[in-house]
Amino acid sequence: MTAIVAGQSNKRCSMVAGTTQVCNGSYGNNGWLGLASINITGGVHITQGSAKMNDTYFNTATYNNPNEKRHVMCQEVAHTFGLDHQSTDGSSQNSCMDYFSNTGANATSTLSTRPNKHDFDELNTIYAHLDSTTTVSQATAASARRPTSISTTIRIVGASW
Ligand SMILES: [Zn+2]
Repeated sequence: MTAIVAGQSNKRCSMVAGTTQVCNGSYGNNGWLGLASINITGGVHITQGSAKMNDTYFNTATYNNPNEKRHVMCQEVAHTFGLDHQSTDGSSQNSCMDYFSNTGANATSTLSTRPNKHDFDELNTIYAHLDSTTTVSQATAASARRPTSISTTIRIVGASW
């Protein structure tokens, strides 16, 4: 179960155990629209995360639209649940876990602004076990879909896609 509560972090979006802190701020012209970070223990369990949205870009005409914001926010928060990209070539899988860009001619498109069925299937695969009853095969299947170390995911601004 996931409860949405008031933020507990600081301006730097420092992580808080047992939570994903979701922040926005003007983080500068650093090449990323959104940045997700997670900590993992035992190679399998995500213990905390942060998802930052960079207002330096979202305050510009190119990125300041609700569809682009939803896409990036959805992707970064989903990374903290352990989800990876569905594609990175700029095509839309109609999942927020792709690199489709809801900017320019696509600014009014709602494609890729939410998770799709595959994303929810992946979440079921990752989380549909009780630790007390985890089998070797389940553990392998689950860990294969998770990053195995502290991981940072960046969505680069201004690439050809
Ligand atoms: Zn990403």
